[in-house]
Amino acid sequence: MKVTYIGHSGFLVELEETAFLFDYYQGEIPKVEEGKRLYVCVSHRHGDHFNPEIFKLAAKYSDVWYILSNDIWKSRIPQDCLGRTVSIRPKSKWEDGDIQVETLKSTDEGVAFLIQAEGKALYHGGDLNNWRWEGEAEESNRRMEEHFKQFLEPVRGRKIDAAFVPLDPRQEGNYALGMDYFLDLTQAKRVYPMHCWEDYGIIGRWLDEHPAHPARDRIVQISGRGEEFRQ
Ligand SMILES: [Zn+2]
Repeated sequence: MKVTYIGHSGFLVELEETAFLFDYYQGEIPKVEEGKRLYVCVSHRHGDHFNPEIFKLAAKYSDVWYILSNDIWKSRIPQDCLGRTVSIRPKSKWEDGDIQVETLKSTDEGVAFLIQAEGKALYHGGDLNNWRWEGEAEESNRRMEEHFKQFLEPVRGRKIDAAFVPLDPRQEGNYALGMDYFLDLTQAKRVYPMHCWEDYGIIGRWLDEHPAHPARDRIVQISGRGEEFRQ
């Protein structure tokens, strides 16, 4: 499997016969090998996760499917892409042959994805995170944590090959809460921090602050757009 980091929460995952583009909003979309079926997944409609440019891919490639969180209104989808678009609700399942897509509810908008394809399992969190903020009312931070743990429960004990998980420097001292809980819940072979706002130093900070963490070696140190990882 080849994983290309495109920017922010945007990744392209290429398997033998299929490819998955997640949450593209900026940067260069790598060329997908002709003949592969491309699934374009969007976790929610926010501008840093959804860019209507993705619909141009349907003209460029012959076999493109869009799996869009249902908070993206139909009016935003070009007419000629509607027939190849699946609008997916939180906590639901969709199958296409051997491909299984399961969604989790997000603590922000939309969904997180759990995908099984070609014997591999992928997790893309979208904005599902423990969004604790300094200065926010304790009651709302407490409710956030409760929802986060509840919504993430479907990944408990799951075998995951590649996981894409928010690590957001804007949360300051709380930046690792969501990541740490995710790592406790599941054994992902590779964990790609995302939603870093181009501040990749936050990954180094996590490594510095977790010197003996059992998942340390599975954290992928992303350092710039366009980087490719094989696993
Ligand atoms: Zn976001």
